[in-house]
Formats: sequence, structure tokens, C-alpha cells
Amino acid sequence: MSKEYELDTRCVHTGELKDPQGSPHTPIYNSTTFAFDNTADLLDVVEGRREGNLYTRYGLNPTIRSLETKLATLEDAEAAFAFSSGMAAEAALFLAHGREGIICIGDAYGGTLELIADQLPLLGIPTHFLLGDELDQLESLLVNGAHMVFFETPSNPTLEVFDIAAIAAQAHHHDALLVVDNTFASPVNQQPLALGADLVVHSATKYLGGHSDITAGALIGNKALLDPIWNWRKNLGQMPAPETAAMLARSLRTLGVRVRQQNVGAMAVSQAMESHPRVQRVLYPGLESFPGHALASRQMSGFGGMLTIEVKGDGALTTAMVDRLQLFAIAPSLGGVESLVTQPVTTTHHGLTPQERSRRGISDAMVRLSVGLEDPRDLIADLKQALQ
Ligand SMILES: *Cc1c(COP(=O)(O)O)cnc(C)c1O
Repeated sequence: MSKEYELDTRCVHTGELKDPQGSPHTPIYNSTTFAFDNTADLLDVVEGRREGNLYTRYGLNPTIRSLETKLATLEDAEAAFAFSSGMAAEAALFLAHGREGIICIGDAYGGTLELIADQLPLLGIPTHFLLGDELDQLESLLVNGAHMVFFETPSNPTLEVFDIAAIAAQAHHHDALLVVDNTFASPVNQQPLALGADLVVHSATKYLGGHSDITAGALIGNKALLDPIWNWRKNLGQMPAPETAAMLARSLRTLGVRVRQQNVGAMAVSQAMESHPRVQRVLYPGLESFPGHALASRQMSGFGGMLTIEVKGDGALTTAMVDRLQLFAIAPSLGGVESLVTQPVTTTHHGLTPQERSRRGISDAMVRLSVGLEDPRDLIADLKQALQ
């Protein structure tokens, strides 16, 4: 569907197959394989002369292809690959494009950190980490040949915001790729490709799926950069099941309304928490008090549904507050219609030493909130009773 249409319209209509039975949306084709009229016909597909359905693990399945057309349009991109999880997408990405070296900027998802820090080096892949206040070292790492820069913005759990356009320019100057994990912001609030990033990664398990009931991932960008990833995904067997692809496509049709309402809810919760006497500080890109607010206002069109509050008190007091919450469920994920809470020291950053946590600005009194679609007044009331 043409880019003349706005994102919400494309989320509903792009990629939908015209179904001979009249179904308004693409049906689920569960078939693992697809039949041909004759051998010449099969060879046309196998040898790439014609696009056709062949084998589901390859992605040559109508339900998966339809989802990928919709995923591409989210980031206004040429193409997209669906994956069985966000980590599957990252693993294929790093193996295909990161072998000359990866620089990970800022804090990142726990699985991403483990993959880059512990596992890729086992394959001889050089990897580097720079925190937000160490960006002066980026230039020399690029000069020394690292070929990929990777970051999340806003990042987990401090919501640190990185300048996509500036870092893209610096990476491109050295012929390196910039890949942005756009999971936290979602395509509704941030379009990294338009700001200069080369590829976007999503854990579709979060906002794209939106209901905490599917695990999936995506890589989105130019066909030329996605093509080399094709065989990795195919032979590592990282394809989502057609049922999952159809559920994700269904979720994407409501992405815009969900995320915009989550922006509203998170802003209301942030403001209420900022003025609460038992709260030390609130980290939310939409607050004027937030250090990354000016940059976020420039590169984001909405501030997202994620925020972190720091309670006045120690880790134990914070845990007691978390345990008193009624509407926020204690769970380490995010992006669903239900609000979730997590204390990073107990989950996402549990494996780090206290020194490493403090170097990353993560305190025991931090509570990360994923604001869902409940009425923000109820969420604020719940937080207030828990803080009493
Ligand atoms: C959850 C998450 C991932 C990993 O995604 P899975 O679908 O769980 O594999 C990657 N990046 C971010 C920012 C995440 O929140």
C-alpha cells in the first residue's frame, strides 16, 4: 500500500491478501509446504524467477509474507523479515552483518548484552560496550574497524535517549552500519530509518504484539541489507509459526491507537509520580525535568509507555511498595495492554554486580513501569496506595 497513506491506515490495510472467500484479512496458511502444477513451475520459484510459496521455514508462506509487508510499512521501509523472537532477529543480524565487530552503546536488553558480551566473542567476533558518557571513544573503535553500531533508544531501564541522526552520520563516515532496537519507542513514536539508521530491530513480543501473548521479532530496512540475513534465518530455523504471524498481524492493525493511549497514560503517571513526596525522581522522556527531553522531543513524535521511578528509600522498601501494587503485575516484560512493574535489581539487571549497576546509574530503589491501557486514574491511585 502506497506511502501516501498515514501509518494507522497502512497498519490496517498493508499486506492484506485478497482472499477468494472474501475474508477481509489474510487467512492463516498453516501448510509447511506448497504444491506446484508441474516441475517447471516449481523450478521457477526455487531458482528465483518468480515469487511463490514453497516452504514455511523459508518464509515462503502467504501468511508470513503478508505479515512482513505490514512490518516493512511500520518503519516506512522497503522490506522486513519476521522472526520467532526478538533475540532470533538480533542473532541473525549479528551473524550476517556484525562479524567485523559490534559496538553496543548504552544499556541494552539482558539477552542482547549476554549475546554480545559472552557468546559472539566465542565465535571470534570482537565486541565493545560504551556507556552514554563514553561516546568520545566511539570514533577510535570505528577507526579500528568495528563495522556495526547498535543501541536502544530510549534504553532500559533509565530511558536514556541517544541521538540517532548524529550517531548514524558518525558510523556512516566509517562505512559502518547503525542498527537501532526500536522496541521501547515503537514505530508510532520513533522512525529510526528516517533519521539515518540502516536497520531496525524489534522484539515484536512487546508493543507490536501488544497483548503479552506472542513471542516474535522483526528486522526492517533495505532489501540489500536484509538479503544477506536470509540464509542465516532460514538455516538457523528462526521463522515464526503461521499462527503467530497471523496474531502479530492482527495486533499491528491496532498499534497506533494502543501506543498513543499508552503515551497518554505514561505521561499522566509520570506527572503524578513527579510531584509525589515519596518519589525521589521520575525518568520519562516526556518530562521537562528529564535530561534527554530536548533530544527526545526532536527525534520522537511521542514519548512512549515506559517510565522508571526512583522511590525514596532502600531496595527492601521499594520491594515492599512493588508488592503492594494491585493493578500493576510483577513481570519483566513490557508493551502489553496490561500494566507491568519490575524492579530492575531483581530482574533485568539482577546478574550485574552492585558496582556495575551503579556505573550504569541503576539503583535498588528503581521501579520500571510499563503502562498499559487501563484508565490512568486507576493506575495513579494504585501507585499512590502502594507508596503510602
Ligand atoms: C524483550 C526485548 C528483546 C528480546 O526480545 P524477545 O522477543 O524476548 O526475544 C530485545 N530488545 C528489547 C529492547 C527488549 O525489550
